[in-house]
Amino acid sequence: MTFLRKCTIPFVLTWLLATVAWPADTTHDVVVVGAGSAGLYAAKTLHASGYDVLIIEATDRIGGRVYSQTLGNTRIELGAEEHYATNANPAWPATQEEYGDSIHVPLYQGTEVSSMDGGTTTCWWTNSALYNCSNDPDVTAVNPFYDWYWEPDEHQDPASTLADDVLTKYGVGPGNRSYHLYDSSFAGGSYATSLYKIGGRSLALESNGWDLSGGTAGLGDKDLGYSDVLETIWWNDVIANNDLILSRPVVTIDTSGDDVIVTDSNGDQHVAGKVIVTVSIGVLQAEMINFVPDLPASTVSAYNGIGIDMGMKVPLRFASPWWEKQGQKLSWLVTEGLAGACWVPTDYKVGSTDYILLCYPMGDNAAALNNIAANNGGGIAGDMAIINAILADLDATFPQAPNEATTNYIEGIVQNWGTHPYTLGVYSYPKVGTYTTANDSSRLDLQVPVADNRIFFAGEASHNTHAATVVGALHEGERAANLILSNEPAPPAPPAPPAPPAPPAPPSSGGGSFSLPSLLVLLGFSACRRKLRYSARSCMG
Ligand SMILES: Cc1cc2nc3c(=O)[nH]c(=O)nc-3n(C[C@H](O)[C@H](O)[C@H](O)COP(=O)(O)OP(=O)(O)OC[C@H]3O[C@@H](n4cnc5c(N)ncnc54)[C@H](O)[C@@H]3O)c2cc1C
Repeated sequence: MTFLRKCTIPFVLTWLLATVAWPADTTHDVVVVGAGSAGLYAAKTLHASGYDVLIIEATDRIGGRVYSQTLGNTRIELGAEEHYATNANPAWPATQEEYGDSIHVPLYQGTEVSSMDGGTTTCWWTNSALYNCSNDPDVTAVNPFYDWYWEPDEHQDPASTLADDVLTKYGVGPGNRSYHLYDSSFAGGSYATSLYKIGGRSLALESNGWDLSGGTAGLGDKDLGYSDVLETIWWNDVIANNDLILSRPVVTIDTSGDDVIVTDSNGDQHVAGKVIVTVSIGVLQAEMINFVPDLPASTVSAYNGIGIDMGMKVPLRFASPWWEKQGQKLSWLVTEGLAGACWVPTDYKVGSTDYILLCYPMGDNAAALNNIAANNGGGIAGDMAIINAILADLDATFPQAPNEATTNYIEGIVQNWGTHPYTLGVYSYPKVGTYTTANDSSRLDLQVPVADNRIFFAGEASHNTHAATVVGALHEGERAANLILSNEPAPPAPPAPPAPPAPPAPPSSGGGSFSLPSLLVLLGFSACRRKLRYSARSCMG
């Protein structure tokens, strides 16, 4: 590409003159740091325009926070699980083309359950239940919350947290018997943190822009995980078509000279014209990569202005569905203890004969579990201590099934994203100050290229309306790649077919290039305003 040729000549001269002053082990048009959804999609986009791309990944696998593993006889998601945005997610049609329309099935098949009063009045959202939630005013009082939290007009104070707002509006503080229904169910279940860490106004501004809806689903095949799908539809080709280095964290990105020099943990240097950095906000905040010269203050304050917290996914396999004591399938359980919220993925994994409860301790629950793990020596013993603490919570949750979690337990996995050294958190959330207005946010600030248009940041955290999702990360990878492409002479275009009559132009979304809120409305798709990820209350298409 043009800029590579421009950069290569001075590099060769420098090399000849300085007798390998900074020997480059590889030379490419673009280096992509991180082989998650954003990085791989950026490489795919650049390769399609003929670019020579090197992807450098810290771990020994691709996929990042999309990570499927087998437990029992079933593929389970240790990272992303919900497939979003039927109408605006390029992975959705590509997946259905490969596996058929019926591959996408509804998640959370069953009834929602709220543990209350130490399990003694745990209730089910069904009339036939022994304890029916509609008889508990503190539980039913949560329903209006879901119509309120995302309205910016209802959250005028930019300095107040969601916990402050819930206390003011509903009188529910940490001592209230229903606090966990706002905290573990909503803050933990959707934003991977605790209620008091979310900015009330920031959350409303972000959620009000959630528009890539049209449907949410899981993969209805016990043998198929999210990472299997993405590898098949795209990533295997991306790896075949681009250079990839695994198990080599990038330690330095140097833009002090004409070229970008990316140094990995082996000390190998990779020269390029541009670099796309797709590491998590946790990795950026920990300053694990040394930028030379320092990044501008605006970029540092952008990544520090976005929240990310501790959290883990803990799938537990049991000998029986011991929780089905009321003749109901369980869609979504909110506990009062450290498990936080759990669901039953094996209910939607067609063909599975397993009974898996997948628990989602986030924020303070995850921090407490990390302490328990550390007190038990960490490692495998620490993970077992985490599982035992979650089982103890579950043992007390169902009045008709005391201690049945422990007695039915077979095996489990602890996927701890908060302590994962190359993620250092689950996914980004809006904290106080992340958004000033819908179009003025730390996320948008992070999108600004630096170092003379040679360093580009992209990842779930830089998407203004669909952060914390795979589709947001894909869009961001594409946005960064397109920014690079837009600086280059365009390849000769094929003759264009006659244009159809243009519909009225939708207003600019300001987000990634797939952000099509107005177009969706034009096409007749209803936009789901209530972004409730990872919850039984998700807007279903
Ligand atoms: C528990 C959990 C549940 C989730 N549930 C959903 C869901 O249901 N639906 C959904 O859409 N999304 C979900 N998400 C979010 C989704 O997984 C992420 O938004 C998305 O995968 C992020 O992609 P990314 O490319 O931005 O980052 P990542 O996938 O984190 O990719 C970044 C890559 O950079 C690598 N890296 C880090 N440091 C370095 C370094 N120094 N040098 C080189 N490489 C480095 C990392 O190892 C990683 O591979 C979930 C995430 C988690 C953790």
